[in-house]
Amino acid sequence: MKSTVYGERLVQLTRYPKVFPVNAYLVREEDGFTLVDTGLSGSEEEFIAAARVLGGEIRRIALTHAPGDHTGSLDALHGALPEAEVLVPAREASFLRGDLDLTPEEQRLGKLKGWWKGAKTEPTRGLSPGDRVGSLEVVAAPGHTPGQVAFFDARDGTLIAGDAFQTRAGIAVSGVIRPLFPFPAMATWSLSTALESARSLRALSPSRLSVGHGPVIEDPLEAMDRAIEAAERKMESKQRAA
Ligand SMILES: [Zn+2]
Repeated sequence: MKSTVYGERLVQLTRYPKVFPVNAYLVREEDGFTLVDTGLSGSEEEFIAAARVLGGEIRRIALTHAPGDHTGSLDALHGALPEAEVLVPAREASFLRGDLDLTPEEQRLGKLKGWWKGAKTEPTRGLSPGDRVGSLEVVAAPGHTPGQVAFFDARDGTLIAGDAFQTRAGIAVSGVIRPLFPFPAMATWSLSTALESARSLRALSPSRLSVGHGPVIEDPLEAMDRAIEAAERKMESKQRAA
């Protein structure tokens, strides 16, 4: 697992950095770390060891959304760290339990895609926009999935955006295909919702953009603007074709 430190509080942990990068993040808090996302299965020991090397324990496990590449090690982590809080976006909790039904409004906006492997672990708390996880503020970021959230660290402007954007093979709003790494787009539920979320995440003016797939981008505003413009063009051509 590749470990990269950004600033004083953020560590990116990447499995398969060369072929199919899947990121999780450790966020430093006074009592230890929050782990954001749990990667693929079999990552638990490396996450726990990475936190200990940095001098702390994982106190909270928070998910941005519930597909299998973000929940893979959740059950094993919960088994190894039963005291750690498990924080799941409220709308994604039923997906995590294996209930993949959409509401009529969600069905109107798109089809659920991607890889939903589910988990046995019960969340200790459901997350809604405006909630806090340690120092992190929970921000709505639906689009890739119906209930995705992002986490904003107002201490230094770090945004952990889940799959609202990808940065592998070039930055993109989720739903816009990057030919060299098309998987997040292929798994996206609603491009129009993803575009709205991308605009509201951009409006936070983050100083650092951290995503599920691809490198961290420092000073990302220009790159986010470019990605939003590309998504707007794609939406327009979809509407013309309809
Ligand atoms: Zn993903």
